[in-house]
Amino acid sequence: MGQTNIKGNRATRVAKALAKIEALKPDHIVCKNCQAHLTDLVTLESHQMEGIEAAFAARCKLCDQDTWVLKAGTNAVADVSTAIDNVTGGVGKIGVTNKPKS
Ligand SMILES: [Zn+2]
Repeated sequence: MGQTNIKGNRATRVAKALAKIEALKPDHIVCKNCQAHLTDLVTLESHQMEGIEAAFAARCKLCDQDTWVLKAGTNAVADVSTAIDNVTGGVGKIGVTNKPKS
């Protein structure tokens, strides 16, 4: 029974964390290459990134470029921007949402 409770608590925490991330998800992001409105957002694993509250990405059907959106502190965004540049060879493009903290 004790183990069942632990599993339940963990599932609840994970569900809460996911709900928090989904709440930060914008309705759309703007393609950094061609300014198309992208609504098919993918939620990225961000819990292991220092300072990142949420991360989303969308692939533009018009120009076939990925645009990333991060919800985080400025320093963390700069760090991840550098990391993505390293991974993609500089073709990754970063968008930042400036939602006020609630
Ligand atoms: Zn585009």
